[in-house]
Amino acid sequence: MPRKIVIVGAHAAGVDAASAARKTDRSAEITLISKEKHVGYSRCGLPFVIGGHIANFNDLIVFPQSFYQMMKLNLKTETTVTSINPANKTVEVATKAGATETIPYDSLILTTGAYSFIPPIKGKEKQGVYSLRTLEDGQQIDKAIRDGAKNAAVIGAGLIGLETAIALKERGLNTTVVELLPQVLPVMLDKEMAKIVHAMLTEKGLKILIGKGLDEILGTDKVTSISVAGEQIPADIVVVATGVRASTGLATKAGITTGETHAIKTNARMKTNIEDIYAAGDCAESINIVTKKPACPQLGTVAVRHGKVAGINAAGGYALFTGVLGSAVTQLFDTQIGVTGLTEFFAKREGINTVTGTITSKTRADYYPGAKPIKVKIVVEKESQRIIGAQIIGGEEATQRINALSFGIQKQMTIRELAKADTAYAPPLCETWEPMVLAAEMVLMKLR
Ligand SMILES: Cc1cc2nc3c(=O)[nH]c(=O)nc-3n(C[C@H](O)[C@H](O)[C@H](O)COP(=O)(O)OP(=O)(O)OC[C@H]3O[C@@H](n4cnc5c(N)ncnc54)[C@H](O)[C@@H]3O)c2cc1C
Repeated sequence: MPRKIVIVGAHAAGVDAASAARKTDRSAEITLISKEKHVGYSRCGLPFVIGGHIANFNDLIVFPQSFYQMMKLNLKTETTVTSINPANKTVEVATKAGATETIPYDSLILTTGAYSFIPPIKGKEKQGVYSLRTLEDGQQIDKAIRDGAKNAAVIGAGLIGLETAIALKERGLNTTVVELLPQVLPVMLDKEMAKIVHAMLTEKGLKILIGKGLDEILGTDKVTSISVAGEQIPADIVVVATGVRASTGLATKAGITTGETHAIKTNARMKTNIEDIYAAGDCAESINIVTKKPACPQLGTVAVRHGKVAGINAAGGYALFTGVLGSAVTQLFDTQIGVTGLTEFFAKREGINTVTGTITSKTRADYYPGAKPIKVKIVVEKESQRIIGAQIIGGEEATQRINALSFGIQKQMTIRELAKADTAYAPPLCETWEPMVLAAEMVLMKLR
């Protein structure tokens, strides 16, 4: 009898889990079930379609129908898994048309993802208030712009909020960003690094209000403005980007345990507390490599790595997930921003004694046309001298530097080792002294 693998959700984690399961067990019957009409698309690309960098929302579909056929995956869309029966090893599903079915499994993988969290803001039900999670959300925002919206407000200055605000600005809307915390990108950057980004965004024409809460969304049926600390700001569109929450209702109803991050608790094989049920992606918790504590960074990169491990294990193979550092990058206008590991702020909050080094350099030889400024900050644990975090703001190659520093943290590299790194150089590509090495030198100076 072929092994029956059922996967709930068919996005980053679900599709990668299915792909890994198929490669592990060529004869398994693999079924992917998704509530959504569109599956296997990149949520990460949504702001860039709104901003006009990508022509069409359908261009974001990474896995077309032919992929599921080629991989012999049974895909059910617009179908909701309504319950799990771990004793019988079955799931109940309901189609959009109302038909129900009981599907048996040998292994079940939950990749139910996350949903946009909208706080209880007065007026949030008004027409013109959106969040950005699904392709349909993107299409609605795009339609509102095409229908003549002139002013926009984005609530939340995290990665998704700022990418969306820029997209709205690029489409010609006067855009205001409201952030309750005292800085932009509060999860990614320390305060002094965030100030640089804030100044750049303001210079490019975004109005940014930090340390201020939204009082109310105003208008009759349709939004016309927002009120922030008593100030009325015009808005035909309001995008609420105040974070996401793991979708765990289906799991908890079946007795699956959630952890301190409120996501599904998993072990290193992405197994839940119930035999033969795995969880992966935005709905699943894993361990932070530096703090060794549960973490749930809800990133696409983590979702695909989780999915691969869950898929291999669910298909009878053996794979371990090694943990997360929350490595993330973004490009805001033409500035690249990246983070890996802990910021100085979060390290201190964890009770870690830190030393930091920050350097401003150039991305190419000084004399080479097009050289852009780059700022690198490295956070080091004082006692062990190990690198535990890094932040980069710059014009070029932020991703590769963040990735290199992420490898360093994973391999428990010390700051002395980074300062002696054997780096490459050519005038159009970088400076003779690699900025990461210069930042390491700054830390060593402080340690001396
Ligand atoms: C605008 C935006 C930009 C982003 N940018 C980046 C980026 O630049 N880099 C990065 O790393 N990450 C980024 N992310 C995050 C990334 O998109 C997510 O981490 C990733 O989508 C998580 O994948 P997932 O498969 O775990 O969950 P999801 O993508 O949430 O998919 C879960 C699926 O399961 C379905 N589902 C849930 N419950 C059921 C049920 N009971 N029955 C059937 N189906 C169900 C849901 O409808 C959904 O389709 C971004 C996210 C957004 C919204």
